[in-house]
Amino acid sequence: MQVVTDIPSLKNIIEEKKQKGLRIGFVPTMGFLHEGHLSLMRTAKAENDFMVVSIFVNPLQFGAGEDYEEYPRDLERDTKMAGSTGCDLIFSPSVKEMYPPGYATFVQVERLTEGLCGASRPGHFLGVTTVVGKLFNLVCPDRAYFGQKDAQQAFVLQKMVQDLNMNLEVIVLPTVREPDGLAMSSRNKYLSPEQRQEAVVIYKSLIEAEEQIRKGEREAGIIKENIAELISKARHARLDYVEIVDSKELYSVPIIKGRCLIAVAVKFGKTRLIDNVLVEV
Ligand code: AMP
Repeated sequence: MQVVTDIPSLKNIIEEKKQKGLRIGFVPTMGFLHEGHLSLMRTAKAENDFMVVSIFVNPLQFGAGEDYEEYPRDLERDTKMAGSTGCDLIFSPSVKEMYPPGYATFVQVERLTEGLCGASRPGHFLGVTTVVGKLFNLVCPDRAYFGQKDAQQAFVLQKMVQDLNMNLEVIVLPTVREPDGLAMSSRNKYLSPEQRQEAVVIYKSLIEAEEQIRKGEREAGIIKENIAELISKARHARLDYVEIVDSKELYSVPIIKGRCLIAVAVKFGKTRLIDNVLVEV
């Protein structure tokens, strides 16, 4: 496995693999890897000839006062973990390599980025689409792999690929969870033991919502209220949003019909966690 930090070296390697006709699988990450990332990598490896992982904490997708500085970083550990999945190449650029002085171009997906995390984190998705667009141009993947855990991100990136006629397939894989159900996240590391125990309420509230729907409830308002109430019982939890949206435009729906996404963001102190389930009726 090679680790490269500069764009010319990356381009040379990619060109060589492309000339050989190898199919490239790509997993973009911000590092501090966990089993959720590794599951994407294993699938990317199995479905392609050459597997590339990027590790880049992208300042552009963090708002003022968010955790860009504190975001956990450990390239040595990440290299070992990615290597264990059969990763062929890690691209781990500096901020200057990605955004040299004078950088001026941004990718903006509209509508889909307005609600959910887009509303709580203005500018976040502009940062995501810009960096992933750049990474797609550099890595030239045939397939790129993303987690359902960041459902809105996956929808937005699929839209970007479609609208900009990018020549690759976006594949979304299921959320990997801790044994108690908490979605794995690099940010779980910030939680105190008490907050960590309480954080399971996020997934429990989503499971309960699924159960309510299975039993016939269709009023989005009632389901959202129940989720909010369950979360409010956790002493350190503060609900950022609970939303039920359609799975095409991500518009809020009053009645559950067809495929819908139930998405939640909850703050434990300064730590913001997200989770979601897709339901179909
Ligand atoms: P991040 O490093 O948080 O930017 O995540 C990189 C990729 O891993 C994104 O496509 C995420 O959706 C995905 N991911 C993060 N956590 C999980 C998880 N628990 N299960 C599955 N995929 C995940």
